[in-house]
Amino acid sequence: MRRIGLIGGMSWESSASYYAAINRGVAAALGGHHSADLVLVSVDFAAIEAMQRAGDWEAAGALLADAARRVEAAGADAIVLCTNTMHEVAEAITAASTLPLLHIVDATGAALVADGRRRVGLLGTAFTMERPTVRARLTAAFGLEVLVPPPDDRAEVHRIIYDELVHGRIHDASRTCYLGVIDRLVAEQQVDAVVLGCTEIGLLVDAFHTAVPLYDTTTIHAEAAVAFALEAP
Ligand code: GLU
Repeated sequence: MRRIGLIGGMSWESSASYYAAINRGVAAALGGHHSADLVLVSVDFAAIEAMQRAGDWEAAGALLADAARRVEAAGADAIVLCTNTMHEVAEAITAASTLPLLHIVDATGAALVADGRRRVGLLGTAFTMERPTVRARLTAAFGLEVLVPPPDDRAEVHRIIYDELVHGRIHDASRTCYLGVIDRLVAEQQVDAVVLGCTEIGLLVDAFHTAVPLYDTTTIHAEAAVAFALEAP
């Protein structure tokens, strides 16, 4: 089994989801008492959040490049960066390490294409919904049309992530808000699926809550990590 190198802490609530999902995936595939061979470098989210707010992506890239070097020194065979937003600095990470980065957008795009999706809604932080990094990659590499909610909905989706979900606060009112945003993406922008493009959203909303097809990037990314771990090198 190959060793997965998680870069997490963004937030630790979602890193815990990755840890559980990857271990469950390996156990399901191999049976018995198997679990994943992985290392986790977990950063202080306060530093990352401040750099995001200041727009200092260079400093954030340097911080995560250091995390990548620590993951490589711990003997990992690949890097899994446990956040959509911070794939903004994917190049700084790959430049700092010889390891492959299992890109969250590539895993998500492949899952969408495999299901024949063409026009998808994207929920995430304001950075993810408004900057081109995630949207452009889904379009350029996978031919997908990517729609985002209108400004008021985006602001509320973003606020709930930073004020609640990264702290592990799960509120019914916020779930109702997200389900409304999802329904409007379908009704007003005719999307055929919605990408949960923030690794904490799955803590709040999942397939039990809506008939709209959801693509949870945490689950999809964790599955890609399991597949990599179990592939012959
Ligand atoms: N985990 C989130 C994401 O997937 C947001 C927290 C962060 O800014 O990294 O984008």
